[in-house]
Amino acid sequence: MPQQFGAFTASELYCPKCKQSQPVRERLLLVLPSGELHEYLCARCATSLGEREVTGPAVRAAAAQAGPAKKAARRLLR
Ligand SMILES: [Zn+2]
Repeated sequence: MPQQFGAFTASELYCPKCKQSQPVRERLLLVLPSGELHEYLCARCATSLGEREVTGPAVRAAAAQAGPAKKAARRLLR
């Protein structure tokens, strides 16, 4: 069963390469009409641990026109 991190900002995620939870670095992956897609990288080995769609005040107005933007990216690579 996939884990979901949509409700909070992850500061640590399990890294399969390090075989333990690691602090993550957040990286801007790409900019979407509804927000920004951020990627979580293991702070030690830079393996991609997951991604998250971030909607902020600046993009909320545009997102309201484009429809529900609350669908955060919950696909996590493991
Ligand atoms: Zn790692």
